[in-house]
Amino acid sequence: MKRGKLIVIVAPSGTGKSTLIKKLVEDIHVLEWSVSCTTRPRRNGETNGVDYNFMTEKEFLTRKENNEFIEWAKVHSNYYGTLKQFVDEGLEAGKNLLFDLDVQGCDQMKKIYGDEANVIFIEPPSVEELEKRLLKRATDNRAVIEERLNNAKEELKRKDDFDYLVTNDDFNRAYSDLNAVVTKILEGK
Ligand code: ADP
Ligand code: 5GP
Repeated sequence: MKRGKLIVIVAPSGTGKSTLIKKLVEDIHVLEWSVSCTTRPRRNGETNGVDYNFMTEKEFLTRKENNEFIEWAKVHSNYYGTLKQFVDEGLEAGKNLLFDLDVQGCDQMKKIYGDEANVIFIEPPSVEELEKRLLKRATDNRAVIEERLNNAKEELKRKDDFDYLVTNDDFNRAYSDLNAVVTKILEGK
């Protein structure tokens, strides 16, 4: 069995990554979305087991102690992690796995999987536009938005460190670029 591909998408919160990924998974059926575990409260419109596996901090830390995560990170005061079993079994079974991770998670995946991990960084057109998108999404309070913007400025310093860079200014153009990059990775070019 040919091993599956491992594709990681990283972008500062509010860039539009979830919206882009949703369309990508609808359009490219051979992609298998990795559902992360998180202690963040569920947002309106999110479904447990689909968007995330939502859990208490106690459960997350127990799973972490049991080495169930291939990578995990504390992002914006909440824990996020990827289940090891899902990744190893998926790749062995030839599945093409798609991840949405923060930069710490990307670094951990690169350390473990090396060149097998294809990382795509999605940047917003500007930090000002990022703030507008976070305000428009209206899922976070002002303090959380400030924390996400500060984190974004740090993450943006890393934008040239990965395999591919896509700018999400015009949505349709960004989606077409992202789709082309993912198609290229899947074709093994
Ligand atoms: P992320 O998953 O990166 O945190 P979302 O996908 O939730 O971001 O997008 C944040 C907000 O920005 C949403 O309201 C979304 O509809 C909007 N958005 C996404 N892409 C664009 C774009 N290219 N132009 C304008 N708004 C966008
Ligand atoms: P959000 O709360 O907006 O859904 O995600 C916040 C941040 O956590 C984003 O940067 C997202 O990429 C990151 N994230 C989501 N799942 C994981 C994960 O499993 N591991 C890591 N390291 N980061 C994650």
